[in-house]
Amino acid sequence: MTEDIGERVVELAKRRGFFFQSNGAYGGVSGFYTYGPQGATLKSNVENAWRDRFAVQEGHQEIDAPTVMPEPVFEASGHLDGFDDMLVECPECGESHRADHLVEDATDIEDAEAVPISEVEEMIAEHDLVCPNCGTELAGEPVQDFNLMFETNIGPGSSQPGYLRPETAQGIFVEFPRLKEYARNQLPFGVTQIGKAYRNEISPRNSIIRVREFTQAELEHFIDPEEDEPPLERVEDVEVTLYPASEQNKENGDYVETTVGDAVEDGILTNEWVAYYLGVAKPWYERVGVDMDRFRFRQHLPGERAHYAADCWDAESEIDGDWFELAGLAYRSDYDLSKHGEYSDEEFTLFKQYDEPKTVERATVDPDMSYLGPEFGGQAGEIADALETKAERDRTAFDGDTVSVEVDGDEYVVPVERTGFAVEEVTESGEHITPHVVEPSFGVGRVVYTVIAHAYREDEVDGEERTYLELDAEVAPTTVGVFPLMDKDGMAERAREIAAELRENGLDVTYDDSGAIGRRYRRQDEVGTPFCVTVDYETLEEGTVTVRERDTTEQTRVDVDELAESLAGLRNGGGTFDELLAPADAE
Ligand code: AMP
Repeated sequence: MTEDIGERVVELAKRRGFFFQSNGAYGGVSGFYTYGPQGATLKSNVENAWRDRFAVQEGHQEIDAPTVMPEPVFEASGHLDGFDDMLVECPECGESHRADHLVEDATDIEDAEAVPISEVEEMIAEHDLVCPNCGTELAGEPVQDFNLMFETNIGPGSSQPGYLRPETAQGIFVEFPRLKEYARNQLPFGVTQIGKAYRNEISPRNSIIRVREFTQAELEHFIDPEEDEPPLERVEDVEVTLYPASEQNKENGDYVETTVGDAVEDGILTNEWVAYYLGVAKPWYERVGVDMDRFRFRQHLPGERAHYAADCWDAESEIDGDWFELAGLAYRSDYDLSKHGEYSDEEFTLFKQYDEPKTVERATVDPDMSYLGPEFGGQAGEIADALETKAERDRTAFDGDTVSVEVDGDEYVVPVERTGFAVEEVTESGEHITPHVVEPSFGVGRVVYTVIAHAYREDEVDGEERTYLELDAEVAPTTVGVFPLMDKDGMAERAREIAAELRENGLDVTYDDSGAIGRRYRRQDEVGTPFCVTVDYETLEEGTVTVRERDTTEQTRVDVDELAESLAGLRNGGGTFDELLAPADAE
């Protein structure tokens, strides 16, 4: 039954309304999926669980930024230049393919993204790779960098180019000057966002695993790299399966089974902040129902890291023998804030107050413009600025008779006596620093997919095959199915009343009165509803209902007056169904 779980999940997802390819009436477009009624609720339950753990429990703030951003943002962030995948086009049918994926499928290489383009071209020829669509040989076809951003025009005409954001992160970074004020200019602080991101994937595949529009849940944690330390003690005992870069490079590389604390001590996790969030992420994935036997953290190989990442580990899960990325946990250093500081008109720094004022020496210049002007003409202003920067960065350059500076690639030599160079003592109460950023970046759809695939079960009940999803009650789209045993003698009315009462208590309830009761149980099993309540004659006479648990199919009778509280408790993780069974057993 472990074979082709992916296919069964996709079939079930479409049939029961978890997710399906959008725009079917117009032939469908690859890479766009709609979450149906079950899937949308499951997805929003996953998002709420993420929000609870990564925003609320950590004390971080959430924002909601636009998905269209102007071009300069992505010039600064590096996405315009570097957010590319390797494209190879079939000369015969014109179909586009990810060249690195073709190489991965045909060789032992796990991450061909890290391999230079010229070598990928060589491997395509060496392994006689063909177009998966029509079988034409791809040897000799050029592999090109293809930028994954969707371009658009802002406003009428084409005056202002814009892009759909390829990650939610930039919506946080560009607002740093304001966000730091909300955080009262105190580091560390974290900002989260759950929202859409868009990537014009070359070949979308595996249903919602690789799509062109998807939801990310991201946290940008701004820290002072010199002073702030994560509360590692909170997660040091969390057990993790690690797949470090060094092991991936070995022929028989293996996992390291360890704890977060030991991995830091042993130098496997070199960045404590990344280690901390690995320790937060693992129990969170377990909480929403990812099977921990099919879950690992894999370190990025140096060539695989995104243009901004100093170190990165991916959370990965396995389905049908394939591993794929659920989240990236990256140390982005000061890359993004420095770039936005450089490209924009705002300061992307934060004033860090010293405990005590410090007296420091500061090198300054006061260039003699009556000399620089005639001597260097139009370049004089820029030369004066370059002298100032040089004095700040390398005052020894002013030790001789002349100092040279570079402007627009040309070198200019200026007599030191004309620069007004001086070293002064000043008292400073603090300094402007560019915070560093730690980023856990989660894909929500991939969690939804994994949770369904890992919860997928088939068994036999009363001689009949059944399919059920062993979903955790916290994420299951429906918590309770309420059924009248029969639609007579007031049972349906009573069942509707009970359903309404459960809804008032915050539970997701489905009412179903059609078909045999066994059929109704199966319908709920298939969408992972953990509990079903049946209203029968005893309900009318004695005020009790049958509660049936999905996985064991065991049943117990519960007083209607206690029903809402018991079920809400079970949904929120308070107690187990066995405890609910206990009083009935004791009778
Ligand atoms: P990245 O910025 O590439 O590390 O992406 C962060 C997370 O977003 C990944 O771990 C995925 O879970 C998710 N993600 C990235 N690309 C896609 C895609 N094309 N479709 C669905 N999810 C994606």
